[in-house]
Order: sequence, then C-alpha cells, then structure tokens
Amino acid sequence: MPELPEVETVRRTLNELVAGKRIRSVTVKLPRIIQRPAEPEQFADALAGRRIETVERRGKFLRIRLDGLVLVSHLRMEGRYGVFASDEPVELHTHVIFHFDDGTDLRYKDVRQFGTMHLFEPGREFELPPLNKLGIEPLEASFTLETLIGKLAKRSTKIKPLLLNQEHIVGLGNIYVDEALFQARIHPERTPDTLKPAEWKRLYESIRATLARAVDAGGSSIKSYVNGQGEMGMFQHQLLVYGRKDEPCPSCAKPIEKFTVGGRGTHICSRCQPIAKTRKTAAK
Ligand SMILES: [Zn+2]
Repeated sequence: MPELPEVETVRRTLNELVAGKRIRSVTVKLPRIIQRPAEPEQFADALAGRRIETVERRGKFLRIRLDGLVLVSHLRMEGRYGVFASDEPVELHTHVIFHFDDGTDLRYKDVRQFGTMHLFEPGREFELPPLNKLGIEPLEASFTLETLIGKLAKRSTKIKPLLLNQEHIVGLGNIYVDEALFQARIHPERTPDTLKPAEWKRLYESIRATLARAVDAGGSSIKSYVNGQGEMGMFQHQLLVYGRKDEPCPSCAKPIEKFTVGGRGTHICSRCQPIAKTRKTAAK
C-alpha cells in the first residue's frame, strides 16, 4: 500500500506529466472506480473540455485540480497512472482513460480494482467523504510538536494504531510508523498518556525526518509509468527496522523482533524501544 512519500512521488511526477493538458474525452471501462458522480457518463461529460491545472495531494489522496472541478483519486493497493500516446495499445486492467487533445492519454490501471475517483466542485471536496475526516498533514508547517501532543497526549490506547489512524495524522502507514517509533525509541504498545516530554519531541522529529527523507528519496525520479509501490523500493534500503526481522538493530545490534500490534505486523528493537517497566508491572 503506498504511503505518503510514495503518493507524494506520484503527485510530483503526475504534475510534471499532465499539468496544462486539456481533456478531450474520458473512457470509463470499469464503472465502480468512479464513486462520484453516480453515473460514469456524468463523470465523463463533466470532464470533457477541462484543462488540468495542478496535481496536489491530501493525505494519501491525489487531488487533481481542473478549471472548475476537482478530481480526488485514491490508488489504494495497486492503482497506477501512466501517460501514453493515444495510439499505443491499451494494457490489461486499464479502467479509466483520459484522452487529451494533444494526442496523449492519461491511463489509470489497477489490477486489484480497489482505487477510487470522486469529482467535486472546487472546495466541496473537503466537506464530503473521502477527504472530510482527514487529520493533519505531517509535512506541513501546521504540524508542530504542540499539535501532535494536543491530538494524542490524553489517549490511553496503544500509540501505533493511533499514528496509523488517518483522522489524527494523514499519510503515515505501517512502514513509516515502525520507522518513526524506532527512531524515537518508543515501544509501539506504549500509550500516549505515559510519554514524557523528551519522548514527544523525539517522536515529532522522527515522524518529520522519516517522511521527509522518504519523499526526497522518491521525489527525483520521473517515469512514464508512475507506480506508487515501485517507487517505494527506492527507500527500502534506507529502512532501519521495517522488514528486517532477525537482522541486527542498526543502533545496538540486538536482532530486530516482529510481532503484531492492532493486527499489523510490527518491527522493533526491544532494547532500544523498551516497554516502560512501571506499566509492565501494573499489567501483571
Ligand atoms: Zn537496538
């Protein structure tokens, strides 16, 4: 599943490839990708003749701004966009094709068919699903140590599922939560109400640093076929704990452990991320 850095990479690439292009017509081959409006014909009719202004991002959603409309697109597991010459053969699993008036197409391909597209009048997209309940953007200036503490500090449930919840902070998925908690030396089953000020500061800084590094690692590549998952591989060699079960901790050399937290595979160093002794005793 692409996370914020991967979607940001897709956004930058897509923006370079399609900003300024005018849509001549739209072909919807799999109606269920189109969630709003109800009928795919309405979707196609509304977009015909529109010019793409910019491609932006909100959480893991692409927000494609056109003159007079906004297209919100979620890639989910395996959605991809690619730009092709119109006369190139259409690949299998291509579900939506935006035909531009310059002889190229933007094609949306999605083997798993979980991706979604919603069309809105500008501004309305923030009042309705899927964008209306999204939390704060961790890479924007509005995400401060104080906002992080304000959102989570009183909670008494495990920190990892809270960080994964898109209603608090957007864009953090399983990989980057594990990485950020490791860097902050916080056990994923700690609860926010037990975190000390120094731990909040480390957590805040590690969320910012982990995401920013991943965006930088993925942000430089331009490909004709934009694949959120493919781009993820570029950052994988820099991951410290995720996917490294039994490998030595980069900090203390103790083998990385893997277990499940809130149903998600979780990687930690139990020496660098101890669960607080007081809580362990209390639980017994
Ligand atoms: Zn360690």
